[in-house]
Amino acid sequence: MIRILDGYLGNEPGLTSLYLIESHRPVLIDASTAVSAERVAMQIRETGIGPDDLAAIALTHIHADHAGGAGALAKAFPKATIYVHPKGARHLVDPTRLEASVRALYVDAYDELMGALTPIDAGRVQAVSDGERIDLGEGEFLEVLETPGHAKHHLTFIGSEGSAYTGDAVGIGIGDVSIQPATPPSDFDLDLALASIAKIREADPTQLMFAHFGRKLDVDETFDLAEASLVDWVEVVRAAKAQGLSVEEAVVQLDANAPRAAAPAASVMGTRTNVYGVWQYLDQSNEMGK
Ligand SMILES: [Zn+2]
Repeated sequence: MIRILDGYLGNEPGLTSLYLIESHRPVLIDASTAVSAERVAMQIRETGIGPDDLAAIALTHIHADHAGGAGALAKAFPKATIYVHPKGARHLVDPTRLEASVRALYVDAYDELMGALTPIDAGRVQAVSDGERIDLGEGEFLEVLETPGHAKHHLTFIGSEGSAYTGDAVGIGIGDVSIQPATPPSDFDLDLALASIAKIREADPTQLMFAHFGRKLDVDETFDLAEASLVDWVEVVRAAKAQGLSVEEAVVQLDANAPRAAAPAASVMGTRTNVYGVWQYLDQSNEMGK
């Protein structure tokens, strides 16, 4: 059984979804923020999974709205192994640099939105990469796909029953709002993001389990929308840049013209975060003469 838990990003329901697979070795996919960890632990305990029962926490990537709560949850569920991209592992063991970089991005909003990160013992952190399997017992497993683009430490998990746990790799789709791209600094890369969407499509999943928010059953349409919105969004930011706007002016203009899903403005869903990521990507592409 796959259960959708709520990560209460910014204390709001319906923005961040975590998945609890109640397999022989129960696994939680993603961990939400540090400030939400207790609310997440409570939802897990309510299913009857006790402190020693959770076998694994699998992180799609180490952004603070996905992995910020991993340290606190590792404490609450002391038998769980934490699975993460090889580039993310050391940042879970020593989250000092990760927390500093996220603080720099969210500034004054950080403490209320994200919360202080708790280190995890190195022996409990297991790096996994492309093609590896996380054993869930009784023949069930999660297959690991490396899906960079949104972040270079991004993984997608394909369940043996066919679901794809896509983190932010296919974008954001909240409520009735169409699929929006998630293009934060500092890793966003359009070509990698499109290649990752194609790679997940290739795995032929039966349903897409978004981190923001919930499952998408119209799989092909969702992939199409994700690709189109990503290309469009990069063009919109490129055009603003070509007009000679500063990045802050571009944020104000684009926010006024194309408001994004209702969500904490400083969060991954905010226009500012998504303009900054594309801006940086375009600067780097120019430097490389692309
Ligand atoms: Zn992210």
